[in-house]
Amino acid sequence: MEAELKDMIDDLESLKRSLPDSSLHASINKLELRVENLTKMAMSATARRSKVKDMSSEVVDSNPYSRLMALQRMGIVENYERIREFSVAIVGVGGVGSVAAEMLTRCGIGRLLLYDYDKVELANMNRLFFRPEQVGMTKTDAAVQTLADINPDVVLEEINVWTISFNILRQKLLGGERRAYKCTRRYRFSSFTLNITTVQGFETFMSSLRNKSFRPSKEGSGVDLVLSCVDNYEARMAVNQACNELNQTWMESGVSEDAVSGHIQLLIPGETACFACAPPLVVASGVDERTLKREGVCAASLPTTMGVVAGLLVQNTLKYLLKFGQVSSYLGYNSLKDYFPTMAMKPNPQCSNAACLERQKECILAKPARDAAAKAKMEAEASSATECSLHADNEWNISVVDDSNPDSVEATSADALPEGLTHELPNADDFKKSPAPGPTDTSIDDLDLLRKQLEALNAD
Ligand SMILES: [Zn+2]
Repeated sequence: MEAELKDMIDDLESLKRSLPDSSLHASINKLELRVENLTKMAMSATARRSKVKDMSSEVVDSNPYSRLMALQRMGIVENYERIREFSVAIVGVGGVGSVAAEMLTRCGIGRLLLYDYDKVELANMNRLFFRPEQVGMTKTDAAVQTLADINPDVVLEEINVWTISFNILRQKLLGGERRAYKCTRRYRFSSFTLNITTVQGFETFMSSLRNKSFRPSKEGSGVDLVLSCVDNYEARMAVNQACNELNQTWMESGVSEDAVSGHIQLLIPGETACFACAPPLVVASGVDERTLKREGVCAASLPTTMGVVAGLLVQNTLKYLLKFGQVSSYLGYNSLKDYFPTMAMKPNPQCSNAACLERQKECILAKPARDAAAKAKMEAEASSATECSLHADNEWNISVVDDSNPDSVEATSADALPEGLTHELPNADDFKKSPAPGPTDTSIDDLDLLRKQLEALNAD
């Protein structure tokens, strides 16, 4: 296969030389690059494990899910296998997104949608996930290559040219005509201006979230959660816009430019603050964030901070999807002080995002029904908790006894041995039954007697 791909590059080179029209060379260069990437992928291809049909809890070394299914056995998660039904979209496969994608892949998530437009560079090697031999590949191609090897059970979908300018959103918020928007696809083609193509990029993003082919019976959109792992405000606003329009719950994440702090945030349209409800001060002041970036100056990044933020993000994703523990509304991380601030943010009734205001209205209308359902659920849980024992299979014969009644303690401890086992040494309880060596009580009369004996001794 590698030889064939090399021949293809040679053919493309000779085709380029034979074409006098140099305007076609750019397309051939693009094809050559893709073939080179395919060659790299073919060279690094390794033997993959075969797919697993059902998640098993069998404790054997060859079971990739035994440690995860143990969460169910230990009573942390009610039904871990449900994870295979869920779809998660990760927007931005950089320092946080790539690690989050790997964690979810290892956890056996059903389907991952990956969005990025960037390529792997040597400058990314201070972070986790990407490898030096993947330099030059698109981040989504490189991620799919690695993730498919780690867990072939996960359905991976990639979209590698997704980006949208804040200009589109600004126009959209003002209710302008979509076709009139102009935006710049930065990074990939600097200052290359498109009009409709990038709008189509946003629509592709929306339709990919709506696509329900993975689980047709799912209500709402085709994904269960969107994770925003991008590094700029305008991309966050694009995710915010899409999720508000689709009524899609999402989680936002970020790491500071100095690499020593980060955060994650849960955003439920209408119920919590959206990203436009409380914009950063610099954006609210009308400053274009692109003007903040100085030539030759780049943000700092640490694999540690990014790894912690990705871990917090995926931990909360698992809690949200599998319904265990408490999902954080906002969780910050200050690595200099190891401080984790938390808070909750209500939606802003004066939010500038029209879709957010619509979701807020719907949320207010649905509140009585939601409260009644939550109350009924709490009551049902409270009554089932009193009826059922905590552990159905009690192989160690652990039981709670009333220690106010000594007889019941003795009876239980004597009967506690499982069938077929006997005590080698006498039961500790037998010591209680042996006669006491002498009176242990010291009555007032004895004290008087002692005092008299002491006085007699002193008198001698
Ligand atoms: Zn809002």
